Amino acid sequence: MHYTRLDITETEGYQALLDAYRVDEASHVKRLCSQLQWSQATLDEVQQRARDLVATVRANRRNGSGVDALMQEYQLSSDEGVVLMCLAEALLRIPDSDTADRLIEDKLASGNWGSHLGKSDSLFVNASTWGLMLSGRIMAPLDTEQGQHVFRQFAQRCGEPMVRQAVRQAMRIMARHFVMGRTIDEALKRRDTDYRYSFDMLGEAARTQPDSQRYFKAYAASIHAIGKTVAEHTSPIKAPGISIKLSALHPRYELSQADRVMTELIPKARELALLARRYDIGLTVDAEEADRLDLTLAVFAALAHDPALSGWDGLGLAVQAYQKRCFDLLDLLAELALSSQRRLMVRLVKGAYWDSEIKRAQERGLASYPVFTRKVCTDVSYLACAQKLLNYHELLYPQFATHNAYTVAAILTLAGDYRDFEFQRLHGMGGPLYDQLLANSRDLVCRVYAPVGSHEDLLPYLVRRLLENGANTSFVNRILDDQAPIESLIQHPHLQIASLEKISHPRIPLPVELYPDRVNSAGIDLHDTETLAALQGDWKRELQRINSAQHSPSSDADIERALATAHASFEDWDATEVEQRARCLENLARLLEVETPRLMALCTTEGGKTITDGVAEVREAVDFCRYYALQARREFTVRTLPGPTGELNQWRLRGKGVFVCISPWNFPLAIFLGQVTAALVAGNSVVAKPAEQTPAVAIAAAELIHQAGIPKEVFQLVLGGEKTGRRLVRDSRVAGVAFTGSTAAARSINQSLAARDAAIATLIAETGGLNAMIVDSSALLEQVVTDVLQSGFQSAGQRCSALRILLVQEDIADELIRLLAGAMDELCIGDPARLATDVGPVIDAEAYERLTQHTDFLDSNARCRKRCALPEELPSTLYFPPQLYEITSIDQIQEEVFGPIVHLLRYHSADLDKRIDEINATGYGLTFGIHSRIDSRARLIASRIRAGNVYVNRNMIGAIVGVQPFGGTGLSGTGPKAGGPHYLSRFATEQSISTNTTAAGGNASLMAMSDDDS
Ligand SMILES: Cc1cc2nc3c(=O)[nH]c(=O)nc-3n(C[C@H](O)[C@H](O)[C@H](O)COP(=O)(O)OP(=O)(O)OC[C@H]3O[C@@H](n4cnc5c(N)ncnc54)[C@H](O)[C@@H]3O)c2cc1C
Repeated sequence: MHYTRLDITETEGYQALLDAYRVDEASHVKRLCSQLQWSQATLDEVQQRARDLVATVRANRRNGSGVDALMQEYQLSSDEGVVLMCLAEALLRIPDSDTADRLIEDKLASGNWGSHLGKSDSLFVNASTWGLMLSGRIMAPLDTEQGQHVFRQFAQRCGEPMVRQAVRQAMRIMARHFVMGRTIDEALKRRDTDYRYSFDMLGEAARTQPDSQRYFKAYAASIHAIGKTVAEHTSPIKAPGISIKLSALHPRYELSQADRVMTELIPKARELALLARRYDIGLTVDAEEADRLDLTLAVFAALAHDPALSGWDGLGLAVQAYQKRCFDLLDLLAELALSSQRRLMVRLVKGAYWDSEIKRAQERGLASYPVFTRKVCTDVSYLACAQKLLNYHELLYPQFATHNAYTVAAILTLAGDYRDFEFQRLHGMGGPLYDQLLANSRDLVCRVYAPVGSHEDLLPYLVRRLLENGANTSFVNRILDDQAPIESLIQHPHLQIASLEKISHPRIPLPVELYPDRVNSAGIDLHDTETLAALQGDWKRELQRINSAQHSPSSDADIERALATAHASFEDWDATEVEQRARCLENLARLLEVETPRLMALCTTEGGKTITDGVAEVREAVDFCRYYALQARREFTVRTLPGPTGELNQWRLRGKGVFVCISPWNFPLAIFLGQVTAALVAGNSVVAKPAEQTPAVAIAAAELIHQAGIPKEVFQLVLGGEKTGRRLVRDSRVAGVAFTGSTAAARSINQSLAARDAAIATLIAETGGLNAMIVDSSALLEQVVTDVLQSGFQSAGQRCSALRILLVQEDIADELIRLLAGAMDELCIGDPARLATDVGPVIDAEAYERLTQHTDFLDSNARCRKRCALPEELPSTLYFPPQLYEITSIDQIQEEVFGPIVHLLRYHSADLDKRIDEINATGYGLTFGIHSRIDSRARLIASRIRAGNVYVNRNMIGAIVGVQPFGGTGLSGTGPKAGGPHYLSRFATEQSISTNTTAAGGNASLMAMSDDDS
């Protein structure tokens, strides 16, 4: 395993960052509180200042921008607030009127807009409400057929276009409040002389090189424009500046791509910094997701140490107080200022991505969160960091970005008479707070962070702001809520902490405790340099241990012995308490977690799995063990059923006999163990045959199965290919087969089983799919691109759930193709043992050959839209380049093509129904993706499509055990779903025992009953 270690990780102070990354929240918050030893006089002064500020803001609310008031009226907790956010997010970017109308109908019809009318003091809010209410009424879906007819007639005459225009206009008005100008010149003109400015070019993180070039040019042009307005000898502190997002300058701004980022991005960031230096204005690097902090620091340190930038004090970095690392990060920055002999600008923010940080850590099963789970903890951190920043004022220029009046009051009190710092606020927010502050204290400075860009680019930013302001804990939200007493807004956070029973949020469990009834599988944090270093060491050791000997197929005698032993051991195993069987699975889960590096190394060397896929593979296996252990305890206990008195009626599940488990190479550990553990815990003995391409993974897993306590006789491993499989399934001792693989092989197994002169066996088959994804024009294209890349090309497309047919509404097809092709250029294809690799090899030369035949066919019958270039050093018969073809009909793809090829088909929005029929008509029904912001449409499609797993507005691979039970219908499998509530029962047979308890004499218990009813 190989990854690039960043220089920054060697610097003094970095270890403290590592230690704080996922530190225990309670102990860290106590440490921060201990920094805030304020005297009673300080405490009182802070509160008095805060009280005055809040009171004045409340008194002046009529002068507010209107947006604050809008947020207040439409809180996120109200249905209408959510609707508003969804509309704002999607409407402006939909190109076709049909979809725009459907979106408006979908969103507006559901809100109770009338209830908000006249509630706000703001004219802007009431006008917006009125517009929304009217639109909602007009667009409300009508139940009766006659009603719908009338509606359509009305819409055709003029209704819908008018409504659409009105709502779009309302959204534009809202957008204007948050955006300073569409162009930098427009924004510069709108400046208010009371404030300083830092301009930001709107946009999502770049997905393609051309996008990153576009952002680069926009930043450069803006620096020129800003610079030209600055008089000579103005310092960066006094001059307007620029804020840049490094993710906008590189399409793969990720730690795994550190090599590329350092060589490709630093020169670009340097060029912008040189430009800013030329005009002597400030350039601040924005703070992004927590797992990008190391990269950001590495780039920032490179700029700080660049001799060409020496003597310029305009270099700045935003740091997030909601990150546990923030307090220690300031020491590292002070160290950097010292070593680079410059004063750095440091913008202290609380952080804008809190919700996604929490979700990401939960998905990855990480040991803890990189951010605090309670708002009050972030507030404490902010105060402790502010205090430290002021202490470092000679090295770091403090910039306090907040809209919170209490936070402002605390900083003013901590600063005393010191004034060499500034406050910052976002354009469209916090105006009333800072207007009064600046009016009363002429020596205070506030800078406005001013987004510049078109409405299309605004949306992600706008949604962030709406979320931020709408949150119940948000200060902006609470200050305008008359129901919230002033005193509740000005509590000292570090004193509030003392009254908490538990410091971390009780409703945000640690990722490992996500499930109420079982332990979540532990993830490996591939963004933590310490973890990476450890993994690399373990990996090396494991590679030396891996026995590369050829594993010869089991002989007929071996197979016979395995079947006979399994058969003989069945009864005892079935009679074993379910508790003991379940415990064996839990032991196995523990062993798997201990052995993760070895298993990952095996999956990579033998199965070509990338590092990320390797982590997911082991986690899935662990989850199967724990989930089936839990299910078995629930399902396999004897139940007493109601019946007449004098009888004991009991029912139970028990094992069926010998189960043969035949698993594929693409999930050599997870599917192998998923089948085997389900069969075992249900009381069956097992003969397992892994794919002939991946025996070593299976041998390692088999060792662990036995170590976990499963008797040797009960679980038998046989090796071999198709012939071995045939030999197994035609044996009359076999009670059931669990199979995952091709539809053709499943059919053949079915026939073999049926042809035996034996009891009718159970077949649980999970087979392939012709998986499709529908993308309508309301979808967020950047997200679609990410999800298509993952669904179609991750694991080199060798997943049964992988995306094969991408149906795209024609209005957005060209744009999506452009984005997809650009993003495909950025895929890293190569050795799967490198952390940077996105796409590894296909499994063998045979698979490569089949894929080549298919692309030969496509080359004559479809249009190749993108074929990734392969690095020259790769063996050309194993590495198949990811490809995007445009086809003209679903019929062109008759069967599953197991590799990194996505077939794109345009559809007209009116033909959506027909396309769904065609997908259903293929007979397959495994996974299906929907990308649409129109909820009713997504629901309708999901209800019509005959697929086992439907994913909305996300990727369509990587089903999680117990969360997204996995398996298809029709040609895609028999069910029940793996990792689902009904899986185990298919491995079991039932027995009911009815005992006449009165047989020996009379019904004593009935006779013994007393006369009262208690
Ligand atoms: C000039 C400026 C520049 C900015 N630049 C950046 C940037 O580069 N990167 C960035 O990420 N953000 C940036 N922001 C956005 C900033 O993070 C938010 O505006 C800020 O967090 C809001 O804090 P507040 O003090 O105004 O409001 P408050 O209402 O006091 O705080 C709200 C904040 O508390 C935190 N929070 C909320 N709930 C919880 C919880 N349950 N547990 C823990 N913490 C919680 C979140 O950070 C939330 O944003 C910037 C803001 C400004 C004003």
